[in-house]
Amino acid sequence: MQLEKHSIGIGDRFARQGVAQLRALEQAAADGIHVVPVWNKSFREHSLVGTVPADVRREAAAAVKALHWQKSFYVDADHISLKNVDGFVESSDFFTLDVADYTGKPADDDALRTFTARHEGLTGDLRLPGLEGTFRLTREALTAAARKYLLAVQEAGRLFRHIAGRKPPERFVTEVSMDETDRPQTPMELLVILAAIADEGIPAQTVAPKFSGRFNKGVDYVGDVAVFAREFEEDLAVIAFAVERFGLPSNLKLSVHSGSDKFSIYEPMRCALRKYGAGLHLKTAGTTWLEEVIGLAEHGGQPLDVARDIYRHAFGRLDELCGPYATVISIRRERLPAPEIVAGWSGSQYAAALRHDPACPAYNPDLRQLVHVGYKIAAEMGARFLDALDTASESIAANVTENLHRRHIVRVFPAA
Ligand SMILES: [Zn+2]
Repeated sequence: MQLEKHSIGIGDRFARQGVAQLRALEQAAADGIHVVPVWNKSFREHSLVGTVPADVRREAAAAVKALHWQKSFYVDADHISLKNVDGFVESSDFFTLDVADYTGKPADDDALRTFTARHEGLTGDLRLPGLEGTFRLTREALTAAARKYLLAVQEAGRLFRHIAGRKPPERFVTEVSMDETDRPQTPMELLVILAAIADEGIPAQTVAPKFSGRFNKGVDYVGDVAVFAREFEEDLAVIAFAVERFGLPSNLKLSVHSGSDKFSIYEPMRCALRKYGAGLHLKTAGTTWLEEVIGLAEHGGQPLDVARDIYRHAFGRLDELCGPYATVISIRRERLPAPEIVAGWSGSQYAAALRHDPACPAYNPDLRQLVHVGYKIAAEMGARFLDALDTASESIAANVTENLHRRHIVRVFPAA
């Protein structure tokens, strides 16, 4: 199973928008932008929403059937660990091995010594394809990177072998992710991580490092775009180098866990992808849930009431909802409108505040982040929320498709 060059992790919290999402990929394909869908959902999301991995498989298969989608599609067990992977094995054919918790903890001395001795040849000046000048990996830097990441990659190896013992490895795609940590990984650290992945025999097709800058949920990138652009390009060069040097899968590519909607870095990403002829996996799952709320608001009537209630409850339970997302949320409370104000908004006022249109003066990124983590409220509403999704299905579908197609796919993926 070989993941295509361009793929997008679209997720879908409530498993209702599969067709609307796939339609966006269909529209992009008509313009020569070919991307395959990956429906990703983490254990955390399943627990909060009350779904199981088989639901994602069912939804994906139904969407593919409804639109007669001829290309591949995948179901990603997102951010799994040994603790929770078993429930995903049957329904998933893409596994994101999350070993971020093991970073920063050293492997045992013997393993570290063996690793650094084996990769001694990486030290000194390195030339990377497509980049000016040379990179320097000192012996000390190699050792330090090994101390930070070898244990994590060993854990990824254990997890990979655990899955491979239950499902033939040629029937799934493997991603190694280390993005959910505080400290970004430099391109030279990525090189060391890839050496360790090859040593462990993990046939990784995607790797998700932590980039510099903040990737807050549902809103734009916060950080120096030029710094990100350089780092992204260097990572692409490191991957191309590592594929040759370590014999990793030839389609190995970066996976960017965007936290949704990182519009300002899309353009530099697209330029770099074109320059290197490189592939990309972009995860932008949460954005669809926000389009559902926008669609509810725009429909008016009962669905609009539901959208207002989601905000009211989220506002009242801000600390609880934001807690699990502390490193990827940055809400200025004083910028949040009081729920009584939102209760008086029309559907289009609500939609304008929530929709990610930076040029619109009504757009409120603080409100958007709060609603982003508010899907737990919708899950608790149960039938009332799901009925509202049905009632407003047309306006929701239009928003979901337009958002993925116009704001994401065409901005980040180069045409063939
Ligand atoms: Zn992630």
